[in-house]
Amino acid sequence: MRGTVLYGPGDVRVEDRPDPRIEQPTDAVIRLSATCVCGSDLWPYRGTDKVERPSPMGHEYAGVVEEVGSEVSGIRPGQFVIGSFFASDNTCEICRAGYQSACVHRQPVGAIGTQAEYARIPLADGTLVATPEMPSDDLVPGLLAASDVLGTGWFAADAAEAGPGKTVAVVGDGAVGLLGVLAARQLGAERVVVMSRHESRQDLAREFGATDVVVERGDEGVGRIKDLTDGLGAHSVIEAVGTQESMMQAVRSTRPGGHIGYVGVSHDVELPGQELFYSHVHLHGGPAPVRRYLPELIDLICRREIDPGRVFDLELPLEQAAEGYRAMDERRAIKTLLRP
Ligand SMILES: [Zn+2]
Ligand SMILES: [Zn+2]
Repeated sequence: MRGTVLYGPGDVRVEDRPDPRIEQPTDAVIRLSATCVCGSDLWPYRGTDKVERPSPMGHEYAGVVEEVGSEVSGIRPGQFVIGSFFASDNTCEICRAGYQSACVHRQPVGAIGTQAEYARIPLADGTLVATPEMPSDDLVPGLLAASDVLGTGWFAADAAEAGPGKTVAVVGDGAVGLLGVLAARQLGAERVVVMSRHESRQDLAREFGATDVVVERGDEGVGRIKDLTDGLGAHSVIEAVGTQESMMQAVRSTRPGGHIGYVGVSHDVELPGQELFYSHVHLHGGPAPVRRYLPELIDLICRREIDPGRVFDLELPLEQAAEGYRAMDERRAIKTLLRP
């Protein structure tokens, strides 16, 4: 099969890779209907994360089950399925508490690489959620978004306790931040402020339900959030970048007693203890337990109540994955969908 491999910074290739097969009786093999490039793929692409050896890429996936192992009972060939970037058993105590991304048996799907024609998905019964019927083509991007960016934005909004009567500020205008806007509105937030300098992203944020846009950053950005909230700060803040600057932007934009949902993959973030101590904010985040939300998200998408697929503003054949990475790296694209 064809699949994407990262050889080093800026060096993405699509090449022949071994066809995946059932290795464990709990595995499934799926044929990808669509896959995509993640903002987090840019960390190794840019050389921020070291690339030690040629690495298969991709951890977001939606497609049709080809084959299942002998112990798989809930998923069967021919079903259209979506799963998260961590395979999980969905039965251990941590999973049952809703933290499938910290499952005691979790396996990173990124190590398998789903920017490919086919992928082996471990722990298929726990990991995969099937749609009620074969979705029409136009629903596929939205379902693919549920695999990570929508699920992650949803977790961030949930962790930030977005809800009725709340003002939510969103730090980061990538796909996760934008879908954090959508999630916050779906959860009933009264006001959603997106921090963004890019017009096309501001427009999409508004389409997803943002009520205000703040273009300033740093102290000025914090000042603007305070201006909009009677000097108090937002009730809920979504952090969807993962840098020191974005994390401090989040902490300083949150009112005492408020909540931060942080889902940007943390890179060299160090929180000053004393400032944190006096801030009175709740911090909750990490790799999103997307699996917790998948049934609900799939339902909302299939009933066409939400259209998270709008974050894909570039669609390319899998063979042109390198251009998909470049476009995101240069911020010409919010998110690239790849068609195998
Ligand atoms: Zn991702
Ligand atoms: Zn588990």
